[in-house]
Formats: sequence, structure tokens, C-alpha cells
Amino acid sequence: MDVRELQRENIKTLKPYSTARDEFKGQASVYLDANENSFGSPLPADYNRYPDPLQLDLKDAISKIKGVPIENMFLGNGSDEAIDLLFRAFCNPGKDNVIILPPTYGMYEVSANINDIEVRKVNLTADFQLDLEKIAETIDSNTKMIFICSPNNPTGNSLNRSDIETILANFKGLVVIDEAYINFARQKTFIQELTEYANLVVLQTFSKAWGLAALRLGMAFSSTHVIDILNKVKPPYNINQATQDLALAALENIQQVNEWIKITVSERDRLGNALGRMEAVRKVYPSDANFILAQIDNAHDIYNQLVDQGIIVRDRSKVVLCDDCLRITVGTVEENNHLLTAIEQLTTPNA
Ligand SMILES: *Cc1c(COP(=O)(O)O)cnc(C)c1O
Repeated sequence: MDVRELQRENIKTLKPYSTARDEFKGQASVYLDANENSFGSPLPADYNRYPDPLQLDLKDAISKIKGVPIENMFLGNGSDEAIDLLFRAFCNPGKDNVIILPPTYGMYEVSANINDIEVRKVNLTADFQLDLEKIAETIDSNTKMIFICSPNNPTGNSLNRSDIETILANFKGLVVIDEAYINFARQKTFIQELTEYANLVVLQTFSKAWGLAALRLGMAFSSTHVIDILNKVKPPYNINQATQDLALAALENIQQVNEWIKITVSERDRLGNALGRMEAVRKVYPSDANFILAQIDNAHDIYNQLVDQGIIVRDRSKVVLCDDCLRITVGTVEENNHLLTAIEQLTTPNA
């Protein structure tokens, strides 16, 4: 299959914006080609020049960690930008559709709605796995993408690898696997399968395990055809210089990040066990992420009472298949203890 055939006709014929940086590459002593401020910037660091549109230094460093070549990598202003660009490049408004698998990350549907793309929903099974039969029935010739979030938000579980492989091998559109939480998972990433499946797009992010949500930096890994199309459609300078500099510096601290991942995983298990022992907690769903989905009696009330105590979790009690569920991010040891004490007190009569 040639994934280039999936792109919109106007994108196929699009002549992309050519930046000053595109038109002159190399070293020079006098740059008078981009209408920048040649005197400098009113900051200690130099921010007066436009950043590298393709972020090659940063990609080079990410490539070394991920083992994925630069030409298979796209960087976005958060993974949310990559999601939006996939819609804009591959889906014809008012005509094409995508499949999402609720309960899942909310941004796929919002992005589809912004782009006027029909959303077809195939709920996960009761154990939060893929319903392959229903997915197959839902696909038609205008289905351009299927969004698979694994580990899934808000349920926390990983989806069965063999089910995902079935979709990758049989679906004729793009399979977008969102691995925002992969650093906390026992499952291995799909980024090593890029050479196997031309229709595979893997999303990862610096917002979760890497602790850089405020920088807005997301990654998409795919075949060169898909990456080339995303680069053609993206705003020329989508990753600002401060983000490029800071992310590059952060990559030097991978040891610290790995340390936090270890603590988060052990705290996740401790938190899950402690919640599971509570009378009012009906179910603690197994998690491969940095949060736990728990079903609690009167979840919505508990949520409000936690808010009154200054503890904010995510109320998912009205979400499909998540009746009476709260989504709880794993915090520091102290934060988790604080939360456990609060829930225990709120749910124990006469305590
Ligand atoms: C948090 C999250 C993201 C991250 O999005 P960014 O735009 O990179 O911050 C992506 N996908 C899922 C499922 C998430 O939960």
C-alpha cells in the first residue's frame, strides 16, 4: 500500500511555504534575509533568529535515544498538533471518517470535529480491549484513520498487541497508536515496527514521563511518506527555540526521568493496592500508565468532597464504561498518602 494515496488532493498538490531558512542553508556572516532584529533580543539568550524549522539537532538527540532515524520522526507543538495535522493532511472535510475507541483520549474527537470529519465510535469491550469484529464492520472506503491509545487514557490498560497487529495488517488507512504513557508500561513500544507497516503512526510526548508538559513537545514516528506530508503541512516554525534548547538539555537528564518512572510505577502499585482494600472502592483497574482508574461508590460526590479539601482528581463517572470512576494521577509519596487518607475518611462511616 502507498500511504501517499491517502492524503487529500489539495495537500498532494500543495506547494509548501518556503522559509528564509529553507532558501539559504549553510554558514554566513551576515544574515539579512528574514527581517529579524539584527541587534539581538532583550534576553540573556539569543532569541532574535528564527529557529530551525526541522529541529535537526533535537531530532538527532531523540533519534539516539529512540533508535528511530530522523526521517521517520516529526516533532509537534504537543502531540495534539500531530493529531490535528493528521486530520488536515489525510481527511477530507464532510466526506471522510475516522474510528475512535471509547472510552479514550478526548482530543481525537475534538480534532475531528474542528476539521469537520465524521467520528465513528466503537466502544472497547467490558475489559477495555479492542472489539475487532465491530471495528471491521465500521470501516468503509472513506475511513482514513483509526486511533488506538495504548496504554489507554482514561482506563490505564495496554491494548493486546496481537489485536493491534491485526488492525495494522488489515486496515487500509492510517493506524495511529498513541503511546503517551508508554514509559510506564510493561508492553513494548510499536516504534520498532515502522519498517513493517507503512500505515503505522506512533505518537509519543514529552508531557508525561519527561515532565515537560509546559514546553509543548510531541513526537510522531512513521514512514518517511507520512513524515514528509506532516512536514509539508505544519506551520514552518512550529517548535520554538526555547523548547528546542530546553528539550535538548532535558535529554541529558534521562537518568532522572528513569528514576521518576521507577518511583511512579511502584507508587502506582502501592496506591492501587491501598485503594483496593477500601470498603467503598468497587474496583481498581490494572494500569500500565501513571494514573489509576478506580470505581468508587458515589464517585461524583467523593470527587466534590476531595475538591473541598484541595485534592483534585479527574471525575470520569459519566464516561461510557466508566460509571462511578475516578481517574487518579500517581503523585509523590506524600501526595498519594494525603489522597488515601482523605478517601478513607470520606468513605468510612463514623470514622
Ligand atoms: C496527555 C496525553 C497526550 C499528550 O498530549 P500533548 O499534546 O503532547 O501534551 C497525548 N495523548 C494522550 C492519550 C494523553 O493522555
